[in-house]
Amino acid sequence: MAETGLFALYKLHLIDSALYEMKTRAASLDVGRGEAEEIKKLEADPEGTLAASRALSSELKDLELEQKSLEDKLKKLDSDLYGGKVVNPREVENIELEKTHVKDHISRNDARILELWELVPPAKEKASGLEGQISQLKGEIVKKQTAAKEEHARLQAAYKAEAAKRPAALKAVPEPLLTLYEKLREKLGVGMAMVTDAHRCDTCGLPVAEKPFDAVVHDKVVQCEGCRRILFRLQQG
Ligand SMILES: [Zn+2]
Repeated sequence: MAETGLFALYKLHLIDSALYEMKTRAASLDVGRGEAEEIKKLEADPEGTLAASRALSSELKDLELEQKSLEDKLKKLDSDLYGGKVVNPREVENIELEKTHVKDHISRNDARILELWELVPPAKEKASGLEGQISQLKGEIVKKQTAAKEEHARLQAAYKAEAAKRPAALKAVPEPLLTLYEKLREKLGVGMAMVTDAHRCDTCGLPVAEKPFDAVVHDKVVQCEGCRRILFRLQQG
């Protein structure tokens, strides 16, 4: 039955389809692209969660700093006033006025600080929820990439081992069958297809009519009407 070299080609095909499958798998390893997409969306902060939390926190920090300098200023005005240096009533009046301004400013700041003390914690909590989500996704990516790297190395080794079997299998296939097969393989990735028990091409699914089916069974080179692959059927027994 090995007259036309179809069985030898089948053996080559088994090696080639294993190689093809490994290549496809290596190309589609999950390196966390979905997670990276998700991170991008979250980091864009569409609801302004991160921005709001940052703005409130920095406003609070600025106000607390300002309060400190206003308190210092008040102390300085007091010491000017009661230190005995200033005696001129006009000057005393000016200092008193300035003290009033500073005190007003302090109490306005105090009111806003009290508000911020209420606003900052929930905003921070919301932001840290989002940040937690982002860092969890980053962790997922690291995990996936580590696994992908391992799988890639494994596939590479398996590919090398399988590819080493190819030259011997290649030599067993006569021309012009080999050239036809290689052309198809180059174009389609896989050059041979099996005919199923239901008389169909197992790759494209097209039915194989009775005549070509008989030809395949009788070890003739027949190409699938649908995908052009060389058809083959393992003989029973
Ligand atoms: Zn087909």
